[in-house]
Amino acid sequence: MENKKELRTWLDKFGLDHPLVIAGPCSAETEEQVLKIAHQLKDTDATVLRAGIWKPRTRPGNFEGVGALGLKWLQKAKQETGMLTTTEVASPHHVDLALEHDIDILWIGARTTVSPFIVQDIADALKGTDKVVLVKNPVNPDLSLWLGAVERFYSCDIKNLGVIHRGFSAYEKTKYRNNPEWQIAIELQNKFPDLPLILDPSHIAGRRDIIFDLCQTALDLNYDGLIVETHFDPDNAWSDAKQQITPATLVQIMKDLKIRKEVS
Ligand code: PEP
Ligand code: MN
Repeated sequence: MENKKELRTWLDKFGLDHPLVIAGPCSAETEEQVLKIAHQLKDTDATVLRAGIWKPRTRPGNFEGVGALGLKWLQKAKQETGMLTTTEVASPHHVDLALEHDIDILWIGARTTVSPFIVQDIADALKGTDKVVLVKNPVNPDLSLWLGAVERFYSCDIKNLGVIHRGFSAYEKTKYRNNPEWQIAIELQNKFPDLPLILDPSHIAGRRDIIFDLCQTALDLNYDGLIVETHFDPDNAWSDAKQQITPATLVQIMKDLKIRKEVS
């Protein structure tokens, strides 16, 4: 993990900084919310705006996303701010719609990575694409499922791949919403050393007060980027309210982090 000079092909191509910072709300809620947060983030270290449009919730009865309508809001945010955009896709239909709306980076959610048939369908829908695809770890601590998903995307000639470490669920409650199990991400990285590795501290923490420490640990381990849920009014967010931070907090975190310089 010390010296990853071989990697970051798409990071270099996109001209993105180290670390890559992706920020934005858990969910796109309204057009005004997406545009407002994008404008608040555009002059921070965040170069990519995230917002979930389709939200696969573990239990029914929670907000499940605004759907395809939100893609237009992301497009508008990109036009107005110049930020790149990313959203979760969980089916080939989502892929088609996201590509039609020129979303720059597609991510595969933790509840999708657990399902080889769906992963294969999505990989087939993306065959040969130049888009960046980021594969979150599966919900459960199973390295093989994560590796299997990466292999399915590679087999479909999707070269601009990366992975997101968002922690693993466990029955026992700990201080984390999802235990980091750093060794699983490190093992994946050892198997695919060229694959950019991004930390999602928000879904690991489930709370705001340990986001900084998680980010620092990731940078100490030479991770390539961070994806941080960010909302201008976190307490009133429509999903994952407890873990979202404000743009001002993100700016402070980025200022306080000790960022390792790559040895090339
Ligand atoms: C999200 O990023 O908002 C999300 C639902 O993530 P995960 O798939 O990691 O639970
Ligand atoms: Mn979320």
